[in-house]
Amino acid sequence: MSRHGASSPALDYIRALYAPEDALLTEIRQHLEQMDRAIQVGAEEGRILQLLLRLHGAKQVLEIGTLAGYSAIWMARALPTDGHLTTLERDPVRATEAQDFFSRSDVTERITLIEGNAHQTLESLIEEHRSFDAVFIDADKPSYSAYLDAAEQLLSPGGLVIADNTLLFGHVVHEQAPQGIAPSTWGKMRAFNQRLADSRHYDAVMLPTIEGLTIARFLG
Ligand code: SAH
Ligand code: MG
Repeated sequence: MSRHGASSPALDYIRALYAPEDALLTEIRQHLEQMDRAIQVGAEEGRILQLLLRLHGAKQVLEIGTLAGYSAIWMARALPTDGHLTTLERDPVRATEAQDFFSRSDVTERITLIEGNAHQTLESLIEEHRSFDAVFIDADKPSYSAYLDAAEQLLSPGGLVIADNTLLFGHVVHEQAPQGIAPSTWGKMRAFNQRLADSRHYDAVMLPTIEGLTIARFLG
């Protein structure tokens, strides 16, 4: 499901005014659209990610779910020259594509892609005592709570958590799992959102984008 495909006069206006793509970002988006794999963030969301990282002063950023690198390039461009984005991708074909796009970008030095199952990679990052200022969760939806467990170990109090698709294609708002979505996936995203809504541990809100984009400050 492409959000860029989901255009409207307001979105077109916002994108043209605030979030123009350069040739590389357009190429990545069109490449995904051709393959019918256009599940990357929209350009305006790329700008939201950039702005959040800059407002937060983030230097070390972790992305879970690279796809072809569209959101990664938006985010890496928000970082200072001594900042770094680590991005995790399980699918070797996507990882190779993303690596190729990174190598052609202006921020190739600022991005490290780690290929493999994010669950394992996150375990290694925790074992290595790595720390991040911000974590962007955008991979397989049933794993979001597990990714949040990892994020809590990788972030310091005050760290930023951003999560995409938290409306679960609109399904999450129903009181019971609707048709067309696995009840376990629905339940897991409900639990994930509930966890971020707990003001003892998070200062959070969901931006009402088509897919839902949660922004949260981890309080510890
Ligand atoms: N952030 C990207 C979109 C990511 S789409 C953008 O906006 O440009 C989700 C990606 O997560 C897919 O490429 C999928 O292969 C990857 N993924 C799914 N499960 C994963 C896992 N367990 N470990 C690592 N990557 C995973
Ligand atoms: Mg997404």
